[in-house]
Amino acid sequence: MRLRNIPRAEGVLNDCKEVVKNGTDFKGNWQNVFNNTNPIHIEIGMGKGKFLLSLAQCNPDINYIGIERYSSVLLRAVEKFQETETAPSNIRFICMDAADIAEVFAPDEVSRIYLNFSDPWPKARHARRRLTSAEFFAQYDRILTQDGTVEFKTDNRPLFDFSVEQLKESSTFELAACTYDLHNTPDMNQGNIMTEYEEKFSSMGDPICKLIAHRKS
Ligand code: SAM
Repeated sequence: MRLRNIPRAEGVLNDCKEVVKNGTDFKGNWQNVFNNTNPIHIEIGMGKGKFLLSLAQCNPDINYIGIERYSSVLLRAVEKFQETETAPSNIRFICMDAADIAEVFAPDEVSRIYLNFSDPWPKARHARRRLTSAEFFAQYDRILTQDGTVEFKTDNRPLFDFSVEQLKESSTFELAACTYDLHNTPDMNQGNIMTEYEEKFSSMGDPICKLIAHRKS
């Protein structure tokens, strides 16, 4: 994603009450942020936010938190949220690097993690930065509930193959479901909400891969 510095981003994000400014303050207390005990699902690398906003509108009994590293990108998601006529009350946003995720959520606090079209970091020396690396799964292990899941979609086959391998080698997580052509796999595609990147790549004819990971029993 090409990044431009957008001067108004900091002001808009600061003024938006759904943007949580210091996520570490709420570690272990996210239920208070939403004023209910509903499960918490997060998306890491939410980009422009269409996916999470649609989920929040469809599932009022789940709390959603979108995480995005760049304020210029989060701005797009927040503006989309603010333009929505019936903006849902079950969504929050955090501008942060997911490497610090375990400083923001306590053990058992998150029920599902969505990773959509994550940056591929193609160079081998950057493999640890991939959001489906063993290093990141170790972070997810620190915050997910016992029956929590990680759902990952991408058009990038090398990144997907790497992710499947990481799970095969994991002592903690395993594959619960996997497809190399999501849009032609009816059981996994049922209720699928497309992200901005998914719309772009699938319209070009690229198959979309999806996996769901859960803890080993
Ligand atoms: N999920 C969106 C979609 O499918 O349309 C956006 C995909 S875009 C390729 C990946 C996004 O993840 C970018 O906005 C990027 O800034 C964000 N991102 C990458 N690494 C991240 C990290 N470590 N922490 C938070 N956000 C990250």
